Amino acid sequence: MKIAVLALQGAFAEHIRVMQELKVETVEIRQLRDLENNPDIAGLILPGGESTVQGKLLNELGLMEPLREKIRSGLPVLGTCAGLILLASGIANDSNRYFATLPVTVTRNAYGRQSGSFNARDDFGDFGKISMTFIRAPIISSVDNPEVKILSSTDGAITGVRYRNQLGITFHPELDNDYVVHKYFKEIAAGYAGTNGN
Ligand code: GLN
Repeated sequence: MKIAVLALQGAFAEHIRVMQELKVETVEIRQLRDLENNPDIAGLILPGGESTVQGKLLNELGLMEPLREKIRSGLPVLGTCAGLILLASGIANDSNRYFATLPVTVTRNAYGRQSGSFNARDDFGDFGKISMTFIRAPIISSVDNPEVKILSSTDGAITGVRYRNQLGITFHPELDNDYVVHKYFKEIAAGYAGTNGN
């Protein structure tokens, strides 16, 4: 099973390291050719970083449409922080829209620019409490479809959701050592690979 990691900007190397620890093959997506050469990917990770920069590069490289199409047709995707912003159908404080496949509204830099980095320990889905590292994180300010499942919140703000094949997380799970989020995503991808013969 092969998982693609968008490697244009931001924390992609850390996600690759975690997937390798979990014995999952990874492929870096840097240009359209990387996607075309790997039609058998079972999942896609959109790392944290700067959503405006990543969005601009996705458009310039011709990756936006083909990736959106794959997400729409069921490819499992894990978007963390900036990656979640790329997935969100609404961004409260930004006029840009990117993939817009995940029916939630996010607010960028919701904790303020300076005091924006902190740690929390909260429940994640059915997995119990995990450590969560927030870096200039957004919050999920509203959930815009009843099918969206809330996985986590901290201090009343939603920090993790699942909608069908899409996982959106406001924190940086690649920076903590329990790999709970990545193991969960690996399972989703394995289910997809099983039904698609990858
Ligand atoms: N503040 C960034 C943005 O709005 C996200 C930060 C992150 O990914 N750690 O794109």
